[in-house]
Amino acid sequence: MEDCLFCKIVAGEIPADVVHQTERTVAFRDLNPQAPMHVLVVPRDHHANAAELAAADPQASAELVTTAAAVAAAEGHDDYRIVFNTGPGVGQSVFHTHLHVLAGRAMTWPPG
Ligand code: AMP
Repeated sequence: MEDCLFCKIVAGEIPADVVHQTERTVAFRDLNPQAPMHVLVVPRDHHANAAELAAADPQASAELVTTAAAVAAAEGHDDYRIVFNTGPGVGQSVFHTHLHVLAGRAMTWPPG
């Protein structure tokens, strides 16, 4: 999709620190990490949020979660948090589905 930051990262038009790739997903480090490990897992195809991806491509949706687990395991983390922000009111700023994978520090609940 034109003018989508994460589509451009998937296409290799904008550099990113890519840590894992599958047929349907790309995982790269967040530019502004909120934990010692903070990786974003995105589908290669453009969908605006997690629900739209799940409705359109359940296999890709599942692969985001299995990729998150693989990335955490590869970096030695048994415990990790995965987050889909959906909508600007809860902090979504990039409207291409992305799963945050955070690990490496203690985390509180409820989230802020
Ligand atoms: P959200 O606020 O949930 O939409 O998450 C978007 C995330 O993308 C934020 O955590 C940003 O720090 C991150 N981000 C923005 N631009 C880039 C980029 N060029 N490379 C990696 N991460 C980015």
